[in-house]
Amino acid sequence: MYRINENYQKLPASYLFSTIAKKVAAFTQENPDKPLIRLGIGDVTQPIAPAIINAMHQAVDEMSLASSFHGYAPDLGYEFLRSAIVKNDYAPKGCGIQEDEIFISDGAKSDSGNIQELFDINCKIAVTDPVYPVYVDSNVMAGRCGTYQEDSKTWSDIIYLPCVRENGFVPEFPKETPDMIYLCFPNNPTGTTITKTQLQEWVDYANRIGAVIIYDAAYEAYISEPDVAHSIYECEGARTCAIEIRSFSKNAGFTGVRLGFTVVPKELTCGGVSLHGMWARRHGTKYNGAPYIIQRAGEAVYSKEGKAQLKEQIAYYMKNASTIKEGLADAGYEVYGGVNAPYIWLKTPGQMRAWEFFDYLMEQANVVGTPGSGFGPSGEGYFRLTAFGSYENTTAAIERIKHCS
Ligand SMILES: *Cc1c(COP(=O)(O)O)cnc(C)c1O
Repeated sequence: MYRINENYQKLPASYLFSTIAKKVAAFTQENPDKPLIRLGIGDVTQPIAPAIINAMHQAVDEMSLASSFHGYAPDLGYEFLRSAIVKNDYAPKGCGIQEDEIFISDGAKSDSGNIQELFDINCKIAVTDPVYPVYVDSNVMAGRCGTYQEDSKTWSDIIYLPCVRENGFVPEFPKETPDMIYLCFPNNPTGTTITKTQLQEWVDYANRIGAVIIYDAAYEAYISEPDVAHSIYECEGARTCAIEIRSFSKNAGFTGVRLGFTVVPKELTCGGVSLHGMWARRHGTKYNGAPYIIQRAGEAVYSKEGKAQLKEQIAYYMKNASTIKEGLADAGYEVYGGVNAPYIWLKTPGQMRAWEFFDYLMEQANVVGTPGSGFGPSGEGYFRLTAFGSYENTTAAIERIKHCS
């Protein structure tokens, strides 16, 4: 008789977005005259830029002719895309990343969930708190996190690195020694980031204790301040301790197109075994490559026109971000993020809990956001608003919030 992977049973149900949906539905039914504005969305809303659409059309046409048809893609991804990545993302910053260290994939969610397979089941993971839930849940599914403690909303075998206003949202080295450290900067959900100097300290720490850093750089394109690293490989020594994961979702609107990549440097070895070799083996066995059409779309992200069009898209979202940030500050809120990321993280007023503030904002301002407690225990007392809406909706939402505070 078969048995299931019991680790799945340990996962608490994910109530966050289903609870939001239920509350929104109930409110809308009772108040048909009060349309809600949603600033809770974690998805882009701008259409794919014209330069990218053109590249996709061309690639579609190529697929229609025997002479230019493409079947299975090469394991690591097409050379044209990997070389564009190196030339644009890594070489100008002196990162020393080579084309054959890049593995093209269908996105950062799968890579950040799958990467844990390379490590022993007894490895101890550390995550920043609040956190993108994929890092935690994928390790729970593998059986790496112990048991869930309902009272503290934490896993017994995870090391939590609180990122709160008291430490400026900069994680501190934990007392206990981790083996795998998940970092994401600029951060989802807090919208904050750390400086290159602070990231260098984490790289030095990881090399000192023999830990691996899994660095999620999904929001790299939103960085506006000069002292923030775009890649962890800008830090000295990162090639021996860090894996970097990137996505085309937030910089180019590929959330429904699907493309990302992971960088595993050749120097990253454990007991003489190359993690690059392991990831190559995994990729070859479990993945058959991102579609040719989509990889051509990815190449167009780095074209001259593509870059110009995407710069505008990001500026559009970041204008929303500063509208939210400044508007809320004017209304007396304590706000964080929104400078190097499309997320604004606000401290709920007084002792208000995150869900209480959700209800308050929906009922009083008719604006929907995301309670911080949905991202981990240190998110309690915080609330996330996103800059991914339209400018019109964003300004209208902020006016409403101002009028009810
Ligand atoms: C949106 C997001 C991603 C992107 O995932 P894709 O699978 O590439 O769409 C990765 N990490 C974080 C933290 C994100 O917020």
